[in-house]
Amino acid sequence: MSHAPRFHRLAVNDLRRESPDAVSLTFAIPEGLADDYHFAPGQYLTLRTVMDGEEVRRSYSICSGPDDGELRIAVKKVDGGAFSNWAADELKAGDELDVMTPTGRFGVITSSSSPAFSSSAAQFENAPPSTFFTAMRNSPSSGPEQIE
Ligand SMILES: Cc1cc2nc3c(=O)[nH]c(=O)nc-3n(C[C@H](O)[C@H](O)[C@H](O)COP(=O)(O)OP(=O)(O)OC[C@H]3O[C@@H](n4cnc5c(N)ncnc54)[C@H](O)[C@@H]3O)c2cc1C
Repeated sequence: MSHAPRFHRLAVNDLRRESPDAVSLTFAIPEGLADDYHFAPGQYLTLRTVMDGEEVRRSYSICSGPDDGELRIAVKKVDGGAFSNWAADELKAGDELDVMTPTGRFGVITSSSSPAFSSSAAQFENAPPSTFFTAMRNSPSSGPEQIE
């Protein structure tokens, strides 16, 4: 989307305890905001909340695919980490967070020509490979091509 990134208050929808130290969750997107939360594989969400009176912002890669019909992230606990431990242990369905519209420019370009990886942002480490494979599988054309 070409809109400037902005926060909207969204409710946590489906929350799964994936392991003792990781949780995945989706957000309920009101119909009127559906366009704002369209995303490309490799993009991430920045979450904002207040903890102990201080604003905290943390980013999480979108781990669902654009055709999955959900906007899902996964949060893994970091030793001593404020937000990740709170999210993994205490966050529950129905809780609300400020969620920025998807950002990040590392991804697969699935235009009418070959799909291509764009490496203009250094976030490969956090982007789930499955999102790229899904995008490439769903692309009408043949193989990947490194650009830049
Ligand atoms: C683009 C992007 C995508 C990301 N995607 C994901 C993802 O998909 N999944 C995921 O789990 N994470 C992801 N991350 C990481 C995530 O944003 C958080 O950084 C992570 O969850 C830790 O946040 P936290 O609040 O738990 O830790 P923090 O509270 O920020 O702490 C991080 C570390 O710093 C230490 N620390 C904090 N304060 C101090 C201090 N004063 N002195 C010394 N040490 C200190 C903590 O002990 C801990 O070890 C991503 C990051 C980026 C930038």
